[in-house]
Amino acid sequence: MTVLASGSKGNSTVIASAQTRVLVDAGLSCRELLKRMAMANEDPSALDAILITHEHQDHIAGLSVLARRLRIPVYFSEPTHRAWVRMMTPSTTMTYAKWLEHVQKEKEARAALDALETTDPTDSEFCDSPGSIQIAAASADDDSEEDATEAASKRDPASLPAVEYFQPGTNFSIGDLSITPFTTPHDAADPCGFVFESVSESIRMAIATDLGYVPPNVRSALQRIDVLLLESNHDLEMLKDGPYPWAVKQRVLSRVGHLSNHATAEFLARDYDGSATYIVLGHLSETNNAPELALHSAEEAIRERGRLLGNRILLAEQSAPIAPICL
Ligand SMILES: [Zn+2]
Ligand SMILES: [Zn+2]
Repeated sequence: MTVLASGSKGNSTVIASAQTRVLVDAGLSCRELLKRMAMANEDPSALDAILITHEHQDHIAGLSVLARRLRIPVYFSEPTHRAWVRMMTPSTTMTYAKWLEHVQKEKEARAALDALETTDPTDSEFCDSPGSIQIAAASADDDSEEDATEAASKRDPASLPAVEYFQPGTNFSIGDLSITPFTTPHDAADPCGFVFESVSESIRMAIATDLGYVPPNVRSALQRIDVLLLESNHDLEMLKDGPYPWAVKQRVLSRVGHLSNHATAEFLARDYDGSATYIVLGHLSETNNAPELALHSAEEAIRERGRLLGNRILLAEQSAPIAPICL
């Protein structure tokens, strides 16, 4: 796990097994994400996919540009994708059904392109199809393909190289990563966290940020986790006394807002199974939290459970990647 950025101003984390690499959320500009990957020694061209937890700006800011640049698929739940498309194309007259049709057509074109790459070019039957000739001509000149992609994105800012849907609660795979999305209580269309299991290495990592409280389904999802990125958003006193308008304070504190240091400590003291080698505290508010407070609060909770002293607690950062956590 490499946390490239974590906090209310942008979130993005690389999860990798021996064979598969995915990026969870793309909440900084494409340029900044590529810079962070370079700082963390992560090769962007090695990424297989981008997964999105929910459509809030701090999770999707650089998504479309990055996905188009890397030409990799983006995995969403359907309601999250739908909400994101609406955000990206506020003035569109395209219905969602039309949009899906458009996505399907793009998918077929890509499948044709993939088939072309693995097919003998002298296979006359395949090359005789007018559609494939067009694709072959476009892919022969990389620049023209790039221009075409950029032109398409100007017409449709929500265009992505490929879109795949998952359903929270239903397991799916990318390469040798087995992924289980779980629903989180948060004020977005269909927010979720993820559990990743490397099938070949039997290592489990999880991301659980942007949740108002820890409901039973999250508690049970976060069992037997080796590396856990867990939200510790705000200090209750700092939030109450801080500069946020009343309505925003209410939103953060609500059951669909963010986990306080106190709520995180309560989870660690009471409901956490103690299995993680590393717990990474993330999504800290820069206005309503202090890293020392979050760390102290979580460490106290673990200390009360003497046998868990082997758990190491780290802090994710907003402004820079933290060192990759390797098991
Ligand atoms: Zn959010
Ligand atoms: Zn967030």
